[in-house]
This record gives sequence, C-alpha cells and structure tokens, in this order.
Amino acid sequence: MSVQTDVIVVGAGIGGLTAAALLQERGIRTVVFEKNGFPGGSCASFRRNGYTFDAGASVFYGFSDNDRSGTLNLHTRIFRKLGVSVETVSDPVQIHYHLPNGFSVAASYDRQLFLDSLVMRFPREREGIMRFYRELEDVYDILSSLPAGSLEDVVHLASVGGRFPVKTLMLALKTFRSMGKTARRYISNEELLRFIDIESYSWAVQDAISTPLVNAGICLADRHHGGINYPLGGSGRIPEALCKGIGKFGGSVRYRTEVTEIVVENGTATGVRLSDGEIVRAQAVITNATVWDTFNRLIPDKRYRVPEDRFLRAPSWFQLFLGVDAGVIPVGFNVHNILVDDWKTFDSPGGTIYFSAPSLLDPSLAPSGKHVVHAFVTSETTLWEQYERGSSAYCEAKDRYADSIIERTEKILPGLAQAVELKILATPQTHERYLNRYKGSYGALLKPGQNILQKPQNRTPVGNLFATGDSTFPGQGVIAVTYSGVSCASLVARRMGKPLDYL
Ligand SMILES: Cc1cc2nc3c(=O)[nH]c(=O)nc-3n(C[C@H](O)[C@H](O)[C@H](O)COP(=O)(O)OP(=O)(O)OC[C@H]3O[C@@H](n4cnc5c(N)ncnc54)[C@H](O)[C@@H]3O)c2cc1C
Repeated sequence: MSVQTDVIVVGAGIGGLTAAALLQERGIRTVVFEKNGFPGGSCASFRRNGYTFDAGASVFYGFSDNDRSGTLNLHTRIFRKLGVSVETVSDPVQIHYHLPNGFSVAASYDRQLFLDSLVMRFPREREGIMRFYRELEDVYDILSSLPAGSLEDVVHLASVGGRFPVKTLMLALKTFRSMGKTARRYISNEELLRFIDIESYSWAVQDAISTPLVNAGICLADRHHGGINYPLGGSGRIPEALCKGIGKFGGSVRYRTEVTEIVVENGTATGVRLSDGEIVRAQAVITNATVWDTFNRLIPDKRYRVPEDRFLRAPSWFQLFLGVDAGVIPVGFNVHNILVDDWKTFDSPGGTIYFSAPSLLDPSLAPSGKHVVHAFVTSETTLWEQYERGSSAYCEAKDRYADSIIERTEKILPGLAQAVELKILATPQTHERYLNRYKGSYGALLKPGQNILQKPQNRTPVGNLFATGDSTFPGQGVIAVTYSGVSCASLVARRMGKPLDYL
C-alpha cells in the first residue's frame, strides 16, 4: 500500500488550515480536503449583492505584534513564518453590553476605562472588581510568556518546564479553577455576578461557573493588551492567508471534496475515502471535524463511538445577515454588541442577541450608504426539524423569528426593521449542512467542574489519527483553534522527525 502524501487534513477550518500550513512549511507534504468551495468554516466570509458577510467569527485576537507575548499573538507569528500578510484595523471596544435595568458597559481596549465604568455602577464592589480582573491579568501574564506547543509533546513540556518552572507550576494550579468561583471569592453583588456570567457566555456559551479561569484569562485580559483587530476585507482573509501559505510551500487545498470515511486498518488511520469513492493514503490523518462527526460518522468502527453526553454539546445558532441603510446606525455605535432583555433567560435559546456591524471598521464590506449587520442567537436543530427545507412554512417561520429578533434589537437601534434592504437567514440546520457539524453545534464544552486539561488533546484513540479544531484543547474561538492547529502540527512534525521551530 503506497502513500500519496505525508498528511491528509479533513476540513479547511482554521484548525485544519493552521496545522496544514505549519506542516507544509516544514516540508511535510500535506493535502487538505474541504467539502465547501471556500476555506474557513465558521471563519469564512461570503458575498451577496455587494455586501461581504462574516459567516461566524468577527471578534479577533492574536494580531498583536508584541514579540514578548508568547502564546497570544499567534496570527502575527504564523503569518510572519509563512511570509503572508493580513491587514487589520483595531477595534477600540471588544463588546458593548446592553443589559437589563439600563446597565450598559463597553469592554474597551483601555482597561482602566472599562474598570472605571464597572466601578461607577457598583461602587461598593470596587475592591472585588479590581481583584477579580487582576486574577485574569495574572493568567494572561503567565500565558503570554510561554511558547505555544503540544501538551502531549514530552520534549516541548520538558523545555517549557525547564525554562519557566514557576510559571508552569502556577498555570497548572490555575487549570483547576473556574472563572465564576474565582469571581465569587471577591464579588457578592448579584447583578455584577450576572455580568461576569455574560462576559464568559459571550464566547464560551456557558456561565462563568462552568468556564475555566485559564480561558477567561485569554479572552478577558488580552483584549486590553493585544486588543481586538478586524481583518480588512472580512474574516475570510484569515483562512485565505493560511491557504496562500500552504500553496507557497507546495501543499494543496482541494475544495468541493468531501471526506466520507477515515480509513482505519488494524487500529491505525491509513487514509481517507472521498465522496466519489476514491481512497487517498497518507502516513497520518488530521481531522478538523467535531469529535462527534469524526468518531460517529467518519469512522464506521463502533468501538470508537463517542456518546453525545461525554461532553456538553453547545447549542447551535439562528443567524441573520442583513444589509441595512447606514442611517440607522448612529455615530459612535460600537461594532460588537450583546443584548440581554432578561437575566432569567439569557442562556435559554434566543435569550441573548449577538449583534455586529463590521462595516463600521471596514466600509469596503458594504455598498456606499449601507452597512452589514450580523445578528445571531443560540438555537437548536430540534426547534426547526418540523419544517421541510425550502418549504413556505419553513421560510415563514424563519421570517417570523428573524422579525422578532430585529424588533428586540430596535431597543438599541430604533428603526432597524425599516432599514433592512437585504435579509439572509440561517437556522441550525443550515449551519449543520454547510459545515458538517453535528446538530450545527458550536462545539463540545467541558462539563462544570471538569479541568480544562480534560478537553481532548490532539492524539486520538486511533493510531496516526490526530485532531484539531474546537473539539480539542483549548476550545471554541478562532484564536483557540489556531492554538490547537499549532499544537497538532508540532506533535505530528515531531513524530515525523521534522520538529517545528518555536513560533
Ligand atoms: C455565529 C458564530 C459566531 C462566532 N463568533 C466568533 C468570534 O467573534 N470570535 C471568535 O474567535 N470565534 C467566534 N466563533 C467561533 C469560531 O468561529 C470557531 O470556534 C472556529 O472558527 C472553529 O474552527 P474549526 O477549525 O474548529 O472548525 P470549522 O470552522 O467548523 O471548520 C471545519 C471545516 O471542515 C469542513 N469539513 C467538516 N467535515 C468535513 C468532511 N467530512 N469533508 C470535508 N470537509 C469537511 C467544514 O466544511 C469546515 O470548513 C463564532 C462561531 C459562530 C458559529
């Protein structure tokens, strides 16, 4: 049985592309198979009627050019290594929260400004606010000094542990801590604790008690250091740059090519079967599919099955992609917003509205006099399964639900309904169909109390099969899956005798 390439990557999401680009740069022959005609998965862009929409992500970390920040400015480091570039514009506010009882706070790049606005609302909690956010800075300080690599790579671990013994030990201890429990050490005001919940829910889709402190230390501290930066031209510029890097070093991405099976022989992955029946062999396979799709759909052998409840399955999304008249967005409106009407339902399906208008940062995303708006709420495939795709009942249900979200958003953008000139709607079924994600899920989450190190790493129970993406450590979010791509590539490269240089 001859191999046709060194490594096959299933899926051109950010995790798969990052791993592929770094391996190919080391001279390890890599082919990526992607079912869609474009790269990026949840970090792709698409164009319609002169508008460029982000399919998912639009809040980006990792573009700082501060060389002292080891693990955190990964996009900058990777693009530098690949010799490709993505031009970005900085966003002065990560998220503007619009919360019940007129509580409105912007998580500004300027940390003091952000803390002052919290203290103004909760003057008695001043000390607690300072101490809680200081804890996040401490995590940030550790993470930003450690080089990225695989926690399964003994050589990497020994090197990091040897060079930074105290920081490594401190980080290990912090992995046992939850963000919410840490907040409760310092803060007692219920409304402020709800705010800490929405701070974690904004990216983790879990309350703060369920969210590891270490993840919070990246998302809620780096926004004040590396900051939030938006790629000019849309989120798709990030995967496009990774593809450019892959091509530059001789690798390839094959679009409209779905993998239907990961071929496993005697407990070892030997290649993949494509939808046209072709089998392609490789020394190693990397899956960028979710843990459920990999082990319950792509690998027929039932011994490898992963029960849905091994992890918490995050919900999916109902999404609105809107082209709107620019006049509806007032001067000074922030790009990313979160709207909660009622704390009792913020984590129920549809309870929190995420709302962004990236053409405020990059006017090229919309025709002159217009803006792009991306609004989304959590949802489940079960809420939509009674409708037949394409049926008028399905379209009417989508329209009704979208109108209710627009109506709620009018609280912060009066006149929005009248300003919409283009409306594209996507249910959890759309998300599942486009990206082959089980139930359209945002991904596998840890159960409350689980240590972040219990998140699957890049090795799998199948020999020569490795995993990257949001089902693996450290989790959801573009910078997190980029980390998983780096750690996956460094593990595979070490095994193939061509270890990566540190980024
Ligand atoms: C609505 C929404 C908003 C978000 N907002 C943000 C944000 O603001 N900031 C942020 O950092 N993160 C955000 N995220 C999360 C972030 O986008 C994801 O965590 C990340 O992009 C996931 O990357 P991935 O590589 O794990 O997988 P995916 O993006 O799911 O990519 C997997 C790829 O593999 C392909 N594929 C799967 N199976 C096969 C197969 N069998 N054969 C061939 N191809 C296959 C898919 O088509 C897809 O292209 C958001 C996500 C969503 C959905």
